[in-house]
Amino acid sequence: MAPLSGKKALVLGGSRGIGAAIVERLVSDGADTQFTYVFQKDAAQALATRTGTKADQLDSADIKQVTEFIDTFDRLDILVINAGIALFGDARDLDPNDVDRMIDINIRSPYHAAVAGARKMKNGGRIVVIGSVNGDRTPFPGLAAYTMTKAAVQGMVRGLARDFAPSGITVNNVQPGPVDTDLNPADGPMKEQMHSPMAIKRHATPAEVAAMVAYLVGPEASIVTGAQHTIDGGFGA
Ligand code: NDP
Repeated sequence: MAPLSGKKALVLGGSRGIGAAIVERLVSDGADTQFTYVFQKDAAQALATRTGTKADQLDSADIKQVTEFIDTFDRLDILVINAGIALFGDARDLDPNDVDRMIDINIRSPYHAAVAGARKMKNGGRIVVIGSVNGDRTPFPGLAAYTMTKAAVQGMVRGLARDFAPSGITVNNVQPGPVDTDLNPADGPMKEQMHSPMAIKRHATPAEVAAMVAYLVGPEASIVTGAQHTIDGGFGA
């Protein structure tokens, strides 16, 4: 039997990149899967058609929209919070409104979504947030605000793991290093700089990250919670 057979899964931010690979993996592992997107309707519809899943348009920057959407579910077993954006640049040059939008998407939304999702998990459950190795290491300038958001994910995962453990719900943070997506293409201009601190000097594939998520949401990971799971080719070693 498929490991996630009978499980209801929601991926926030699943239309492209790491999120799309997670949707594909959850489906192939047997979960009844739904996902959200914000702008890329064509990509979302193509993935939904290919995988037999449902795509809903929803802006993760709007906390009310996110929690009201999760409230519509009868039940959830797996929640993967992947939606995230990255702003790079000298802190003095970034538009404060853009920084605040990133804080909404990368911190406030994951927190409130995790809490709303846990309320829907009646027979235990799995919550995974996609953080970043930058939560641990900030080797280049221009990353202060992004790093701050991913460090916040570490704290929320530790605390929520304690709150939800009595209900059989695990909460984990997956921390990728460079992954080949639209956000960070493997042939992008920062390739050499990003590969320089890595032991294995290549971008990960989205499927490699999805495989780590698949373990954490699966039946073999019931003792794994409150932890940061780095998959970064030794970027932070
Ligand atoms: P992409 O930009 O390739 O894809 C982002 C996905 O999130 C898309 O499906 C996008 O939807 C969705 N999304 C973005 N903003 C919102 C929003 N406001 N509301 C709903 N959905 C949204 O990013 P990646 O796949 O590279 O990154 C995914 C996660 O992994 C992020 O949290 C990122 O910080 C993290 N990460 C990525 C790394 C990398 O090197 N790629 C490294 C470390 C961490 P749409 O298609 O509609 O725009």
